[in-house]
Amino acid sequence: NREIHLASRPQGWPTEDTFRLVETEVPTPGPGQIVVRNQYMSVDPYMRGRMNDVKSYVAPFALDAPLDGAAIGEVVASEAVDIAVGTTVLHGLGWREYALLDAAAARPVDPSIAPVSAYLSVLGMTGLTAYAGLLEVAAMKPGETVFVSAAAGAVGSLVGQIAKLKGAGRVIGSAGSPAKVERLRALGFDAAFDYHDGVRESLRAAAPDGIDVYFDNVGGDHLEAAISAMNLHGRAAICGMIAQYNATEPPAAPRNLALVIGKRLTLRGFLVNDHNNVRAAFVRDVSGWLRDGTLSYDETIVDGIENAPEAFIGVLRGDNLGKMLVKV
Ligand code: NDP
Repeated sequence: NREIHLASRPQGWPTEDTFRLVETEVPTPGPGQIVVRNQYMSVDPYMRGRMNDVKSYVAPFALDAPLDGAAIGEVVASEAVDIAVGTTVLHGLGWREYALLDAAAARPVDPSIAPVSAYLSVLGMTGLTAYAGLLEVAAMKPGETVFVSAAAGAVGSLVGQIAKLKGAGRVIGSAGSPAKVERLRALGFDAAFDYHDGVRESLRAAAPDGIDVYFDNVGGDHLEAAISAMNLHGRAAICGMIAQYNATEPPAAPRNLALVIGKRLTLRGFLVNDHNNVRAAFVRDVSGWLRDGTLSYDETIVDGIENAPEAFIGVLRGDNLGKMLVKV
């Protein structure tokens, strides 16, 4: 059993020295437990925050212990009455080949409904984040103009498409390369730009009549530009601020926060875990869109647990189109 440990706490960007590949025995289950051979694991930007030893909404990773995160795999040993060997389960112990879990901590899923990786991307936490953030937190209404940053990423690419499917008037996305911008146009975004060309100017050109909703994955200059572009009573769902996850100094933007007053804006942070109340509607809508082909999702799959550190640094750097996953 190979697993990835946190070897040191990064200052700024993580490096290969942040991680250590460790070999251990394949675990055996105790009463009520199962062992899962992981097939795919999720690689998530929020993990960067857990590498710092600070109090947050989720506990920091411990040094010299395995990292964790969402994973899916097949049960290969079971001492639990309700989960048989061969069951495909979703759980929270990724970053290792074999996971030992209490059966209650694993959720069986049907691998015949969708490719198993989809339970970590479009049908999983990623999809729910996009759905709940856009429709609940930002309360997007038909006809509105929506802007989303990191739009070619896992959450962002779904936000833009769901906005269109739910009747947005105009959807604009920003991303970090011409190839990603091209992909956004193919996904049905009305306008897309490379933020290296200047966020404020590009957004103004893409949304001459302003924006009503901003789905923020980036923070910093993107949030500042969105505040400037917002119409009266505009709403921002603050999902992530990836531009500052590796920063060693506090961010300089947004400098125009006072506009929130006159424009009566709402900037609302959220965590996907608080939105299980829309899960049923999410599953119904997304399964339907997948079935009729109106929703597409990209996955960038890195092969091998030994390459998981590189995949993690990659998602922070923008190597991914859609959801970054490791095939364990
Ligand atoms: P993505 O698939 O979007 O990957 C991250 C992307 O961020 C990269 O591909 C990169 O694309 C972009 N990026 C990196 N640095 C910068 C920068 N300085 N400026 C602009 N873009 C940058 O990841 P996820 O979809 O998993 O997550 C998206 C965001 O949502 C993250 O901020 C994450 O923390 C947050 N999140 C929040 C949740 C919640 O409950 N609140 C739940 C899940 C995710 P590019 O090439 O375009 O730069």
